Amino acid sequence: MHAGRPLWVRYDLDAVKRAVRRDDLRSRPQTMWRYRELLPYEDERDVISLGETMTPLLECDRLAQHFGVRRLIIKDESRLPTGSFKSRGMALAVTLAQALGVTRVAAPTAGNAGGALAAYAAKAGLECFIFMPDDTPIVNQREAALFGAKAFLVNGLISDCGRIVREGAAGAEGNPARGGRGGEGRGGWFDMSTLREPYRLEGKKTMGLELAEQMGWTLPDVILYPTGGGTGLIGMWKAFAELSALGWLEAATRPRMFACQASGCAPIVNAFDAGERFAQPIENARTIASGLRVPGALGDFMILDAVRASGGRAMAADEDRLIEWMRLAGGLEGVSLCPESAACLDVLERALRAGHVGTQETIVLFNTGAAQKYVEAMAAELPRIDHRAVEWENMRA
Ligand SMILES: *Cc1c(COP(=O)(O)O)cnc(C)c1O
Repeated sequence: MHAGRPLWVRYDLDAVKRAVRRDDLRSRPQTMWRYRELLPYEDERDVISLGETMTPLLECDRLAQHFGVRRLIIKDESRLPTGSFKSRGMALAVTLAQALGVTRVAAPTAGNAGGALAAYAAKAGLECFIFMPDDTPIVNQREAALFGAKAFLVNGLISDCGRIVREGAAGAEGNPARGGRGGEGRGGWFDMSTLREPYRLEGKKTMGLELAEQMGWTLPDVILYPTGGGTGLIGMWKAFAELSALGWLEAATRPRMFACQASGCAPIVNAFDAGERFAQPIENARTIASGLRVPGALGDFMILDAVRASGGRAMAADEDRLIEWMRLAGGLEGVSLCPESAACLDVLERALRAGHVGTQETIVLFNTGAAQKYVEAMAAELPRIDHRAVEWENMRA
């Protein structure tokens, strides 16, 4: 029983140490499954995969120059299946759900989680139910339906969607995944909400494992991470602890973790500033960065603990500047930056100005999704041209 609190997967790291050396990874496929000793599945044949490729580290020299910093790297998660890093968590969660005999899954979402769950559920042949607030970005609504989920719009918040999913989920006793008979909940499905379900965290953890390996088993000075539910940040912090226990890291120092939120929904920032361990839920949360629109995170204390232990901070971006930052990254680097990660650039500017980040430090920013999924945020009218009377002078002006 977990009393509604998050579950935490532990590994016998001594056994892992004996089973694998970090150099053994070199010959493995370039996907998140290369870290299998640090993932909870047992049988290779159970893996539900859509090709979770390792994502590149993009050296962003022009953007670095804009900020006056020595080295700025974007880890570009936008090219994962369904265009966001949510696929890392869902690939593993669906793999485990299916292996444990679950046939029906459900989740609340205000953004990319729904499409990712729907896609992996489709691949696994599971029935999938998605509940989202009616102001969820249009692409997220339609992708869930496209991948065959039974997707519903709810005239409420993500927390209302979460309640519908909980009510419809089998109780712990009735849950076939925990040895019960199943089906007691009204919807008869398994609740895949992040941190209520323990494996999405383990999947997102692979961001941290991958980053360490790609940087030659060293870590950057600073990580800027767009934080909603916090699964990615908590997962990476867990990854660094596990790598450190295995003795795989070249140095003992860990990155300072910056939890970046948007001013329209910044509960973690409020708690950080107030010195609290738990966050007060935000009312009337509003931000175009839908992945950050999490008014009350179940793992709030885990985010805040990790941020503080790392010597980092939680900081809020100016909501009104998100599109400007998306354009800057797109125009200078050709990076398809999602509004959530645009918040990290605003935070970077503030953190540099306040001296929380130094110009000589190595900074890694996670681009958690593709800008193309946010057509509402991208909506810019282009000037029209009459092909019969092209006016070169006006175009050059
Ligand atoms: C879900 C999401 C986030 C927030 O992720 P957490 O790990 O839950 O904090 C950030 N960016 C995008 C694009 C997302 O879809």
